[in-house]
Amino acid sequence: MDAFSCLACGCRGCEPVCDYLPTHPPHAEFFPERKLVECNDCHLLQIDRTPPAERLSEFYSTVYRKGWRGFTPFLRRYPYDSKGRMSRARSLRKLAEPYLSGDDPLPILEIGAGLGYNLFAFRELYSNCSLVANEGEPECQAALAKLGAAIIPGLWGQPEVNRELGRAGPFDVVILSHVLEHSMDPRRFICDLNLVLSDRSVVVLEVPNTPRSVVESEAHSPHLTFFERSTLRALLLNCGVEPLVLDSFGPLRSAAPKQKTGCVRRIVRALVPFSVRLALARFRGRYPALSAAQIRDINVVPSPSYLERGGDNRHWLRAVFRLSR
Ligand SMILES: [Zn+2]
Repeated sequence: MDAFSCLACGCRGCEPVCDYLPTHPPHAEFFPERKLVECNDCHLLQIDRTPPAERLSEFYSTVYRKGWRGFTPFLRRYPYDSKGRMSRARSLRKLAEPYLSGDDPLPILEIGAGLGYNLFAFRELYSNCSLVANEGEPECQAALAKLGAAIIPGLWGQPEVNRELGRAGPFDVVILSHVLEHSMDPRRFICDLNLVLSDRSVVVLEVPNTPRSVVESEAHSPHLTFFERSTLRALLLNCGVEPLVLDSFGPLRSAAPKQKTGCVRRIVRALVPFSVRLALARFRGRYPALSAAQIRDINVVPSPSYLERGGDNRHWLRAVFRLSR
């Protein structure tokens, strides 16, 4: 631990929090015997040792998404194959809309574009706008190609990737959806965006909202950093950024144990009225601190308004900001 320094602020002091427990077998194998620690200075929760950069890059382009249920898009109907993903992408776009230029924008870039739902949602505003997707995962390429996005593989932060994206820019919108928490150097990740921004650029960011209580009570996604509102704000301020928007959004995150999954839950929900399920849950001592409205929110089927809802203890942190050049 003595060689450890905080990934975000470089501080050498940290405090152990818990073991690092990714549940997906390939992820657990890739991150063996790690711990999560909290920086004493900026309070960012993070992994105690990062793997070598080259191995991490290989991990993201090969095994990262392998075996994740529901990942593969239904290409014939893509991007309309997933109501949930599309609604979520549109809700992210709506957050940025007040800050976007009304004119036809320069190209839109998504770093770590995945399947491209976010890019598509932004192009709904600007039909002629060209899209650039930075994504190294081969399984994503067919979907991105169907959008007509130019694909630039590799990881943001690698000099040749940053150079190539710099040449493809500048961009008016840069989307970072669930990528920052995978970065070994989140401060540099944000500051380097200068390379691809125009004078009127807006950056739209989403990361999981994982305060310490969540990190200590749940298994972990294969992330290097675990943000909550205060630590994301500290990071952005450390990059000279005052966010235009910074809040948690989406479904309510509950500390209550997970309910039955998949089809059993769907059948129970379809057959048993909410009031009965609530009474049973209360009888069994579940959700003692939550109101009926909050419990309904946990169990609700994804809808646009539900994905746009902001406030404390929601699943995702979203920020909209400009970076002065
Ligand atoms: Zn720190």
